[in-house]
Amino acid sequence: MKDLIVIGAGPAGLTAGLYAVRAGLDVSVYEKNVYGGQVTSTPEVENYPSVQKVSGFEFANNIYTQTVSQGVKMEFDEVLGIEDRGDHKIVKTSSGDVETRTVIIANGVERRKLGVKGEQEFTMKGVTYCATCDGAFFKGQDVAIVGGGNTALEDALDLSNTSSKVYLIHRGDHFTGQKVLQDAVIARENIEIISNSVVEEIAGDTNVKEIIVKSQIDGSTKSINVKGVFVAIGLIPNNGMFGDVIDLDKHGYIISDDSCKTNVEGVYVAGDCRTKFLRQIITAASDGAVASVQAVNYVNQNVVQY
Ligand SMILES: Cc1cc2nc3c(=O)[nH]c(=O)nc-3n(C[C@H](O)[C@H](O)[C@H](O)COP(=O)(O)OP(=O)(O)OC[C@H]3O[C@@H](n4cnc5c(N)ncnc54)[C@H](O)[C@@H]3O)c2cc1C
Repeated sequence: MKDLIVIGAGPAGLTAGLYAVRAGLDVSVYEKNVYGGQVTSTPEVENYPSVQKVSGFEFANNIYTQTVSQGVKMEFDEVLGIEDRGDHKIVKTSSGDVETRTVIIANGVERRKLGVKGEQEFTMKGVTYCATCDGAFFKGQDVAIVGGGNTALEDALDLSNTSSKVYLIHRGDHFTGQKVLQDAVIARENIEIISNSVVEEIAGDTNVKEIIVKSQIDGSTKSINVKGVFVAIGLIPNNGMFGDVIDLDKHGYIISDDSCKTNVEGVYVAGDCRTKFLRQIITAASDGAVASVQAVNYVNQNVVQY
């Protein structure tokens, strides 16, 4: 019987493992892919305090090495679900069932993709899925944002402060984001709204140079020169496998707050996979620490104070 199983080796899961092992728990982190999570798909991280500039891979390597060197066991295996047996839980993995006292779910999210020609080829070469993270790399350049919800509108406003021109491309004839954001976007001089249109192709040489945009009305296409393409068409949480045990909101996020508790005693949640305001490395790591201390308290049945 393990003390703690952490699902996912992103910033949230690895931080959870680090805190738990330092508090004396026997902890394993399960990862279905490569360690590091979404961070590995960004060329540079510049907004984590005390770290001036580091590649996503280096960031992931640092946190992984730190965690494993302190005694966290890594299992490269996919988790398929959990069962609540009261005082212990069963974690179902692709290589069998594992018994544990507590679980921390830290399986993150995936970015919804456009699914167009050039998107994969130019990811990290101009195509990005996070304006908060990567906007600063496109200072003074022309960029495009794809999407029509709150995130796309907020990203357009943020990017218009630093980029020279922002093309906001959305497939409908009206935005789904808040009216106040829509009004601000319309009022901003360097944002050009291109409605009823989809991105058909992203092209370039070593980096993005242009996008081909197709009108949904008459099928005509045009080329727009941009250096960056920000895809803001939603995040996909993958919590369906926990849905029979853990409460999810209507978008599929695990319902929780800053306590990182779920509706099941002994099961905690950390990082992008839970309901929260800001999905970033720093908030994921913060959740990892909180969820971990909750698990330690549950296992020890007393209050550990840091
Ligand atoms: C392109 C890009 C650039 C970014 N840049 C920045 C930045 O500069 N600064 C910043 O603060 N934030 C940035 N972010 C956001 C940041 O990466 C995330 O907020 C953070 O990684 C969330 O951490 P997490 O641990 O919650 O989830 P994730 O990083 O998503 O990690 C979850 C892990 O769980 C694993 N997993 C999923 N399901 C299972 C399963 N069933 N079994 C086992 N393992 C599973 C996944 O493979 C993954 O490794 C960026 C995101 C992207 C996509």
